[in-house]
Amino acid sequence: MPELPEVEVTRRSFAERIAGAHVLDVRLGKPLRWPLGIAPEALRGQTVHGVRRRGKYLLVDLDRGLLLLHLGMSGSLYFAADQRPAGVHDHFDLRTDRGLLRLHDLRRFGAVVWVEGEDAPLARKLLGGLGVEPLSDAFEAEAFWRALRQRRASIKQVLMAGDIVVGVGNIYASEALFLAGIRPTLSAARITRTRAERLHTAIRQVLGRAVEQGGSTLRNFSNASGEHGLFQQEAMVYGRAGEPCRVCGTPIRSLRQGQRSTFYCPHCQSA
Ligand SMILES: [Zn+2]
Repeated sequence: MPELPEVEVTRRSFAERIAGAHVLDVRLGKPLRWPLGIAPEALRGQTVHGVRRRGKYLLVDLDRGLLLLHLGMSGSLYFAADQRPAGVHDHFDLRTDRGLLRLHDLRRFGAVVWVEGEDAPLARKLLGGLGVEPLSDAFEAEAFWRALRQRRASIKQVLMAGDIVVGVGNIYASEALFLAGIRPTLSAARITRTRAERLHTAIRQVLGRAVEQGGSTLRNFSNASGEHGLFQQEAMVYGRAGEPCRVCGTPIRSLRQGQRSTFYCPHCQSA
């Protein structure tokens, strides 16, 4: 599943090239998660002003309103100068005078929705509950620790809920907790201020590094230029159950938390 770093890498791969482009037309394939919310013809002639990201949503600003794009479980976006024919899994094309932005989505959990503004009811529903952006200055250690103190659930699940800090998905939560030396099952409320500061740093480090590396190496993910990421090859714990910890040699363990696999080192993550 594309996570925040993949979405950010995708954004960077085409944001500059599409800014200032004029929409020539829009082609819809099979239905995605929600209807587009506007007649495709109404987008024709509009200018693309820029591409922002909020959590795992890309926000494509137009003259009037914006498009919210989500990659769902298996979606990928690409932007290409040539106007190639659509395949059976290509369900949204934004054809512009600078090139073609296309959503390829095998499982069709992805979405492309037009909204009038970020105050529109659907935009509020999708974006309103999102926590702070982990790579922005708004993500601040002290406030993070205070927010954790209000939660009794396990730290791994609190991170993944996304309402305190957004975009710390399964891989990144496991990796950040390893770097901070925190057991994934520990109640968020019991994390000390020092550990919370360490976790804050670890989250930024892990996500920042993943963005640098081009996202995780997930089989079905490729960024908007079709290149695959490398992050997972250097994972410390994620996907490594039974293998020796890269720091202390203790076998990595896995457990299930809220339907998701968690990986940790019982020696390095004793807190
Ligand atoms: Zn270890």
